[in-house]
Amino acid sequence: RGAAHDELLDGLNPQQREAVEYRGQALLIVAGAGSGKTRVLTHRIASLLRSREAWPSQILAITFTNKAAGEMRERVEQLVGDSARGMWISTFHSACVRILRREAEQFGFTKAFTIYDSGDSRALIKRLVKEHEADALGLTPASVQSRISKLKNELADADSYARDANMNDPAERMFVDLFSDYQRQLQRANAFDFDDLIAQTVYLFRAFPDVADVYRKRFRHILVDEYQDTNHAQYALIHELTRPVQSSVDAGGGMLALMDEQDGASLTVVGDSDQSIYAFRGADIRNISEFERDFPGAKVVLLEQNYRSTQNILTAANSVIRNNFDRKDKRLWSDQGDGEKVVGFTGYSQHDEAQFVADEIEQLRRKGVDYGQMAVFYRTNSQSRALEEIFIRSAVPYKIMGGTKFYERQEIKDALAYLVSVANPADEMALRRIINKPRRGIGDVTVETISGFAEREGITFRDALGRYAELGLGPKLQGAVAQLHNVLAEASEILLPSSGEAPPPTSVAEGLQVLLNKTGYLDALRASRDPQDEARVENLDELVAVTREFARNNPEGTVLDFLTEVALVADSDDLDDESGSVSLMTLHTAKGLEFDTVFLTGVEEDLIPHRISAGEPGGPQEERRLFYVGITRARKRLYLSLAMTRAQFGEVSAAMPSRFLQEIPAEIIHWRQSPGDVNSRGGTQSRALNARRPRDRWGNTQQLPPGGGLKPKSTAMDRFPGMVTNKVRDNGDLELAAGDRIRHEDFGEGRVDAVTGEGPKRIAHVRFDSAGSKKLLIKIAPITKL
Ligand code: ATP
Ligand code: MG
Repeated sequence: RGAAHDELLDGLNPQQREAVEYRGQALLIVAGAGSGKTRVLTHRIASLLRSREAWPSQILAITFTNKAAGEMRERVEQLVGDSARGMWISTFHSACVRILRREAEQFGFTKAFTIYDSGDSRALIKRLVKEHEADALGLTPASVQSRISKLKNELADADSYARDANMNDPAERMFVDLFSDYQRQLQRANAFDFDDLIAQTVYLFRAFPDVADVYRKRFRHILVDEYQDTNHAQYALIHELTRPVQSSVDAGGGMLALMDEQDGASLTVVGDSDQSIYAFRGADIRNISEFERDFPGAKVVLLEQNYRSTQNILTAANSVIRNNFDRKDKRLWSDQGDGEKVVGFTGYSQHDEAQFVADEIEQLRRKGVDYGQMAVFYRTNSQSRALEEIFIRSAVPYKIMGGTKFYERQEIKDALAYLVSVANPADEMALRRIINKPRRGIGDVTVETISGFAEREGITFRDALGRYAELGLGPKLQGAVAQLHNVLAEASEILLPSSGEAPPPTSVAEGLQVLLNKTGYLDALRASRDPQDEARVENLDELVAVTREFARNNPEGTVLDFLTEVALVADSDDLDDESGSVSLMTLHTAKGLEFDTVFLTGVEEDLIPHRISAGEPGGPQEERRLFYVGITRARKRLYLSLAMTRAQFGEVSAAMPSRFLQEIPAEIIHWRQSPGDVNSRGGTQSRALNARRPRDRWGNTQQLPPGGGLKPKSTAMDRFPGMVTNKVRDNGDLELAAGDRIRHEDFGEGRVDAVTGEGPKRIAHVRFDSAGSKKLLIKIAPITKL
């Protein structure tokens, strides 16, 4: 204690301090964005450890992403040192995987279970929909998947659903069949889907109180960040974990009574109902509003000072969120001064908008702002494409968080399916995925032969491979099956040493290499002339590098640990953590993060609020919260940008400014180029208008008729020839190869490390003598060969 402990409290205001020091059973901290909720959680953990009120192993902290978990762990370690090891700081999903790996045997799974991501479950559901011919009843794989997911989040299963459903309706009957069949298939494959990870843990705790008691005794302090986004299953899980441990005692006269042997764990939750953005995944704000009812005597702490943003940014955020009804008004204030105005920009097209963002980023960079402190947000993943194009062209280093994930690439999924086939032999889907990759001549007919044999013999598909001689295949096919079986067996010996011994740390990397090399998978890619395959080889190299890094971080990690980690890489998590690049991400992914500079792009009707939200109950309000989340990520600078026309689904159509823009007071926005300017080309008139009547909001339909006077399908280039000017040049067929030296107009001289891509998409990877490494689109980069 003493000085060190005070230091823990020094950086906190009185309310925050109160929350850190409170020692009752239940504590709820509700507060707006940037008010230090996450900081309070971190300091609270540190305080419990520092004062020795808790061992690290007694702490369970839940965050929304793995990245947030990593940051929180790091912060706690900074505050209390290494003694923080042994804490569980993780997402709901990771915590449940750890529990299930230990306990799955209790209910018919093995600890080698596979985790199906949403692509995997979609594939399985697709197969079932086809088998049941369910599309004839209007059931699509997507709709079935999302209904099953919703139900699981409410802890419903096929049986409980069937009890309330109208079973005279053939579509309902079919859905129930699909749901129970899906569940059966998962069980057979020794697999859990994402929603199961939580739901099955709750089921486990309820069905096996002894098992639950183990965890109740262990976790004495449970802390949950972003509580507003918990769904019912997650809520139930917290409830199970915070129950008192009971034991039966002899009450005399041959009677037994239940007595509390141990109080429930202390529970701290923090949240902000204005930031609830996962209703579509079953998140329930009521979990916050009913906390006091669920935990009588709970202490509630309110925080009102925002430490993140300038007043202008806060004013923008507050004036938007104020328009949601059914909320308690919060008074967030900041003592950081007004700061810069919010910058507004309207581009002619999404490329024009992206160019503005890129130029602005470069300007800030020249003023000394780190790329890593800038972020670009958008509502939908597809919006990133235009940004990426322009960023590559302008040599702005960037990384995409979430979105097209490394782990979703075909070759990576193949490689992982190989590992899964070894680690969890019951997972037939993984095996079917790679059975003919690379091509071995094993087609559907052979697969059915093997599958039929397995069924007749009552063995798994994997074991059937091992009996290749009995499958009745021709010699060539038999050889192919035998070869596959042998490689899998060889990899098993590396990856799954006989019980008792721990595998050496390099086992995952080695096993993976055996699988990729001895199956001929890599050779097939290398022999291919498709440039895409070259990239695939690089990606697989990267995956091997990931396994090596995994081994360094987890010397005792097994292939199961590796697969778990990979399966749980959440949306906002990223492979490489280079801080020297701008972060691109969706608004959903941005939650909980903060950046000096934020570009919120595509602030248009139909994007935010998104078109699909219009018909949903509460949809537009949830969109407003999402917009609020976006604004409140910014510390110093906020840009709101939009485009007049947007190409979507191959069609160029006119876009309208988002209604949310009009909710922000005109005097705190500085328009670099407003829709009015764009409308009248020169823009002097509307600028003059705005000057005279500063409160006049430009977004009304008079100034901006639908389509802004632009005919749909006209492109910016038609109307504003020469607009995308000096930046673009055409290097035509400039020949570049690794080793060449070049000069770039902005970055000076450098050496080409590699050239990838083809034709107009060729990219030079250049290491500049003083400007670092950049990727340049050769066709248009301002470069000359030396
Ligand atoms: P969100 O709702 O966006 O998740 P939050 O309430 O969790 O926000 P934090 O991320 O904990 O807020 O804090 C926002 C920023 O303010 C962080 O950079 C944090 O370090 C800083 N901060 C919080 N409290 C204080 C304080 N008392 N003194 C100085 N800085 C603080
Ligand atoms: Mg937070």
